[in-house]
Amino acid sequence: MGKEIRNPLEELRAYFQYLEELGFTHIPYFKELENIFKKHPLLREDNLSSLFERIRACRDCSLHRIRKLPALDENFSDKRLMLIGDFPDKEDNYLGRPFAGPIGETLQKMLLSIGLRKEDFYLTLVVKCKPSAGRIPEEEEIQACRKYLLKEIRLLKPKLILALGFLPPKALLERTEPLNNLRGAPFSFRESMIIFTYHPAFMLKNPSVKRLIWEDLKLFKELYEKTL
Ligand code: SF4
Repeated sequence: MGKEIRNPLEELRAYFQYLEELGFTHIPYFKELENIFKKHPLLREDNLSSLFERIRACRDCSLHRIRKLPALDENFSDKRLMLIGDFPDKEDNYLGRPFAGPIGETLQKMLLSIGLRKEDFYLTLVVKCKPSAGRIPEEEEIQACRKYLLKEIRLLKPKLILALGFLPPKALLERTEPLNNLRGAPFSFRESMIIFTYHPAFMLKNPSVKRLIWEDLKLFKELYEKTL
């Protein structure tokens, strides 16, 4: 018999709704519940270095079998801006860093156009390990890796996030509509503001989005000047 997969958030929501129907107006504090949650390894991670150790040892999806190195940004101290890409390319996989190769150089040019640099951002990816050539990550791989991205945001608490590509809206907002519907205006996510736009790798194949990226970058710069 297959393992039953439950969404804990849905379960809790349904349970709280049931309690409300029964007339409960508040929920008592459960010390025991907190103790149970604290045993989860990801809840114990309280800094990015220990999270990286966990990711390097991760086998939560099939990509661990073919990766060389997960792509992680070791230069995270004092970063208040975050940049999220889709998944590692060949260079990222060999060097173990996001945006380590030619796409990173294109990204650098994009950022320089608004007076920022790659080094101003904590760089990360929705999926940390590279899929085989020419394939994009499967839904289950995105879901398996999503917890690390959420934990990075929780630890870093960036004021502003620039999200590039089709995977960040899926992972953060669970939205699958075209990126064109999500770009052009900021979204708030927990304590951060996010601008979604196209990935530089997509732009190289589809130069018509260059103008849209430029508009989104200008919007990001406006927010940056207001916020930081
Ligand atoms: S892609 Fe993410 S979930 Fe999959 S093995 Fe790598 S770190 Fe783990």
